Amino acid sequence: MSRDYYEILGVAREATVDEIKKAYKKQALKHHPDKNPGDAEAEKRFKEAAEAFDVLGDEQKRSTYDQFGHAGLSGAGAGPRGFSNVDDIFSVFGDIFGGGGGGSIFEDLFGGSGRAQVQPGENLRAEIPITFEEASTGTHRELAVTRRVTCGTCEGSGARPGTEPETCSLCRGVGQVQQSQGFFSIRSVCPQCRGEGSRITSPCADCGGEGRTRLKEDVSLDIPAGVQDGTRIRVSGAGNAGPRGGPPGDLHAVIRLEAHEFFQRHENDVFCELPVSYSQAALGAKVEVPTLGGKASMSVPAGTQSGEILRMRGQGFPSLHGHRKGDQLVKVVVEVPKKLSEEQETILRRLAELEEKEVGTKRHSFFERLKNYFE
Ligand SMILES: [Zn+2]
Ligand SMILES: [Zn+2]
Repeated sequence: MSRDYYEILGVAREATVDEIKKAYKKQALKHHPDKNPGDAEAEKRFKEAAEAFDVLGDEQKRSTYDQFGHAGLSGAGAGPRGFSNVDDIFSVFGDIFGGGGGGSIFEDLFGGSGRAQVQPGENLRAEIPITFEEASTGTHRELAVTRRVTCGTCEGSGARPGTEPETCSLCRGVGQVQQSQGFFSIRSVCPQCRGEGSRITSPCADCGGEGRTRLKEDVSLDIPAGVQDGTRIRVSGAGNAGPRGGPPGDLHAVIRLEAHEFFQRHENDVFCELPVSYSQAALGAKVEVPTLGGKASMSVPAGTQSGEILRMRGQGFPSLHGHRKGDQLVKVVVEVPKKLSEEQETILRRLAELEEKEVGTKRHSFFERLKNYFE
């Protein structure tokens, strides 16, 4: 059961908008998490007050609440916003704390640090070429990555040691400026400090005020068995450090599977072609086939047709997601000899007689035959 909103803010039912606003401000400052670190009860009170103010501070919602209580607010669009965290609350109500004439109560209480946005660092991307064999067994790489790291001299502040960034005079450190429009107001990024809330008057000599320097570092990357072309591996925190001490981005390693001499890949299956002779295809044979793990022996059954596909179970890629291993699919290609020994020719002619098939009486070169054709 939710508590009564008027009770939460400690105001009378007939309180004016101004009184409600003041009461909320008082509650919010009292229970603010920065003032009560780790105090869950205070955080609960803080959110409760924000919810109460969301309703009582809005004429329409307040009137619904007055008539129907909490039940009246549960309909679509009318309910409280369901704040999930403290920053949500600030993004909605920040305007009643900041700005206005003179230093706000907020700044007085919390040291004027404001709520300027901390910018996270950029993600980095690296392409990692690997072979079929490495993708099959998994592998390891040491990547030399040039990334931006927090400047050690100024510890990321960008200010020359011994100096402090100056609080922005336009936004008073909040990083945003607002224009009133009725009860609420429109806010935008402060044009003077570009949202940082402060200005560096004496920049750090090592980083030029950016708070970051470049560093070439080795990043260790484990590549699991079964990766595909395009598989992305995220190394958390190995991207650029954020400017002015913001949290680092990530490194995204993108796998590029190099083309293979024999193999092609489709999902976890491996395809290859295998040339066999007419006699092997007709009579059947045991042949050696290259596989991801080296080679394996495969039976070509008697009577195999050219183009037929034979399956070697479990000789494909392992699955990244722990499913069954892929297969190797071998396309049998019957090769016709380009040159015959005398003995081979004799045997084949004998074969042709048995098959009652017409064959050329003498072997001609292609150009000879072409000449004959035109004559
Ligand atoms: Zn620096
Ligand atoms: Zn500013």
